[in-house]
Amino acid sequence: MRTFGAGLIGHLMSAVLRRNIPFYLDTDVRSLIVEDGRVQGVIARQGANEFRIMVRRGVLLATGSNVRNEALTERSSEFHATKTLLPPSVDGDAIVLAGEIGGAISIKPQFQQDLLYVIPGEEHYGTPLYRGVTNNESGFPHSILVNLDGDRFSDESIGQQVGATLRNFDVRRHRYVNVPCFLVFDQTYLDKYGLGSIQPGDEVPDWLIKDDSIKGLAERLGVDGEGLTKTIQRFNKFAEAGKDEDFGRGEFPFANSVSGDLTNKPNPNLGPLNQPPYFGLPLEPAAAGSTRLVTNELAQVMHLRGQAIPGLYACGSASAHYYGIGYQAGCELGGAMTFGYLAAKHAAAG
Ligand SMILES: Cc1cc2nc3c(=O)[nH]c(=O)nc-3n(C[C@H](O)[C@H](O)[C@H](O)COP(=O)(O)OP(=O)(O)OC[C@H]3O[C@@H](n4cnc5c(N)ncnc54)[C@H](O)[C@@H]3O)c2cc1C
Repeated sequence: MRTFGAGLIGHLMSAVLRRNIPFYLDTDVRSLIVEDGRVQGVIARQGANEFRIMVRRGVLLATGSNVRNEALTERSSEFHATKTLLPPSVDGDAIVLAGEIGGAISIKPQFQQDLLYVIPGEEHYGTPLYRGVTNNESGFPHSILVNLDGDRFSDESIGQQVGATLRNFDVRRHRYVNVPCFLVFDQTYLDKYGLGSIQPGDEVPDWLIKDDSIKGLAERLGVDGEGLTKTIQRFNKFAEAGKDEDFGRGEFPFANSVSGDLTNKPNPNLGPLNQPPYFGLPLEPAAAGSTRLVTNELAQVMHLRGQAIPGLYACGSASAHYYGIGYQAGCELGGAMTFGYLAAKHAAAG
């Protein structure tokens, strides 16, 4: 039995196969065919071959976000960040395809912000394999996120809160105060939770920066040592009391179960950093896929002049969030399914 995304796609794929609907692997849609004021098909490329695929009802763009389109992402991302967890094919084609025929584009902050690190030598698709920490790792007890001053800056157990706070800009120093940042944790954290592919009990790999003292770790990371020492002393008091007086970490039920340890008392997201060695992981923000096509309630792509483009639909990460700014965890796949369904229904009705 398959679950999560593979289970979902498996179910859809079996429906496609049962209906003998043709599908093409390793095939890139390069442009849209517009005839008589309506999108009537696509030009696709498979290897060296380019060919036309004509449609009777409409074209639904579900090509994902823009993050692997470095030029587009660099221009639209607040941090000029271009690194991402996503594969190279997710490179903003919906924006280019619809943009060429007047499709309206929306750029809105999502705040869901992966913080990335790379294990030296790890690659996928010939590019570095980035790993993210803000979905789980930064909310477990015995860890904190700090900036270069050694200060905590957010409730680390809520990825979107971290994302919002990363955007704090210090005008006098002319830089984002919390970029870069560092996940700092102790041996207890590693023993209990591991880190990414490092399982609890595994040998600590050489690439992980560590030191027996907090000051020593700060020096290795380039972080203010006095600041980090004070931060950890203060955080450890919060952990003991089970109450984070600075950022309320552990007060959000979603974070308790998703990025916390429910067996950890008194607070699933708070635990002291007091078991050397101490570890530090430098992190940088991922590219944000916040440049998307404007669609209406039927998933039709809107033209810059305000009307729907006949025969063109978009859903999933290709289309702007139907709920505006921010990110509603779990609503991404639900939204993609719902608007894909609405697009098909509208197209079928002619
Ligand atoms: C770490 C992480 C955790 C997440 N957790 C959740 C969660 O818990 N719940 C949730 O709902 N969402 C979650 N999401 C978000 C969710 O994964 C995405 O919103 C979703 O995968 C977007 O689906 P999509 O089909 O729009 O785009 P994608 O999954 O990116 O698929 C786009 C596809 O289009 C193909 N493509 C691109 N260009 C072309 C072209 N020109 N021609 C043909 N094909 C093309 C690409 O190869 C790709 O296969 C998470 C995302 C990440 C990164």
